[in-house]
Amino acid sequence: MSVEFRIKNFLHPLAILKLRRFLEKSQWFSFKRLQEYQVVRLQRILNHAYTNVPYYHKLFNRIGFKPHKVFSLDALQKIPPLTKDLVKENKHLLVARNAARFSPVSCRTSGSTGEAVEFYLDRPSNVLEFCYYWRYWSWAGYRLGSPFAELASHYFLTHPRRKNDVYVFYRPGRRLLLNSMMLSCDRIDHYVAALRKYRPRFLKGLASTLYVFALLVKDKGIDDLGFDAVFSTGEMLLKPYRKTIEAVFHCKVYDSYGHMERTVAVSECPCGGYHLNADYGILELQKEPGQNATARGTVLGTGLYNFSMPLIRYAVGDVIEADHANSLCQCGRGLPLIKNIHGRKEDIIVTPDGRIVTSAFTLFELVHGIELGQIVQEQKDRIVLRIVPSAGYGPESEQQAVTTLQNFVGQDICIKVDYTTKEKIKAADGRKFKTVVSCL
Ligand SMILES: [Zn+2]
Repeated sequence: MSVEFRIKNFLHPLAILKLRRFLEKSQWFSFKRLQEYQVVRLQRILNHAYTNVPYYHKLFNRIGFKPHKVFSLDALQKIPPLTKDLVKENKHLLVARNAARFSPVSCRTSGSTGEAVEFYLDRPSNVLEFCYYWRYWSWAGYRLGSPFAELASHYFLTHPRRKNDVYVFYRPGRRLLLNSMMLSCDRIDHYVAALRKYRPRFLKGLASTLYVFALLVKDKGIDDLGFDAVFSTGEMLLKPYRKTIEAVFHCKVYDSYGHMERTVAVSECPCGGYHLNADYGILELQKEPGQNATARGTVLGTGLYNFSMPLIRYAVGDVIEADHANSLCQCGRGLPLIKNIHGRKEDIIVTPDGRIVTSAFTLFELVHGIELGQIVQEQKDRIVLRIVPSAGYGPESEQQAVTTLQNFVGQDICIKVDYTTKEKIKAADGRKFKTVVSCL
């Protein structure tokens, strides 16, 4: 999950304090009490969807669904899942007629299935995001204002004059942004110097970026860097990743799972339990045929806080294995436990000038008009950018896509654009789609 905390989005101090106070309590609620809370929020979302969202008004009438008669989570199963194709086909019908009340912000994500989806988030729903992260990071000892470092690409891509900088430091928030696109053996000393200068207590980044960073620090023989905790996000945290990061930075990694559409969020506690944030959204698992007895299924998420474009039983595409025994975590929190998450896993690009690029998949969140895209490094100095254009793809889109990719990988690599179809990309791939593929 990629989140930009911008001050202007959080000018709701009372709402933040209120939700913060609630989330501090609700994490200790019993499973039953959490479900009761979910039902109350769900009733509100469903009634709003029926009254104000044309897509749901028509759908609920067609299937005879009465939102005012929903008194349990089981009622959700009567509503057909909302696939990404349905979101794309019905985008305007899914926007609430009174969306302006919620100051909607247009967002885009490529998700782990690689298919770009556009949607709206209420500006005040950032209050939830802020409080959710505050709680999750607090589990590792974070306090508001603690010095924090983040391995990131978005800021440097959107500030062209800073794109080759190794870092930028925001004094008011004590936030150190480290440029994840410039990571290389030659430059690692600059990153380490910035960390020694500003001494952040926490480090956040994509799982693979954190891993590459830890390997580069280790290869330099540096052993005196340490954090209170490292927060991993956006990709699967593989076992060797965790082991290396924890050894190099002398602290625990706190892993998390989520997506930009904000329907489901999972975060790891100090005891290593992966907790489903049941007070954030509702998770259902759609079973594969013949798999009814298992606790494994694809994620159907229902957001509880977004009104401008409610997503109900939204098919995210990732696979999750729930804790079959409904056991309680050693930490005592009532938030249910998740056993396994099969999320995004991408290849890494190594460029001729020594950069190790891990976040190139975010390209498809930045360029409009691409239904599905894939980056294939065929040779050290050659990348094929596969594009399935959508209706919004214009003459400037190709240039924008190539320039953005060039910002990720530098100028020493030749980029060839290949226009193709969704079927061809998916057919050429293995079981789990990868947005970035390396043939090296
Ligand atoms: Zn726990």
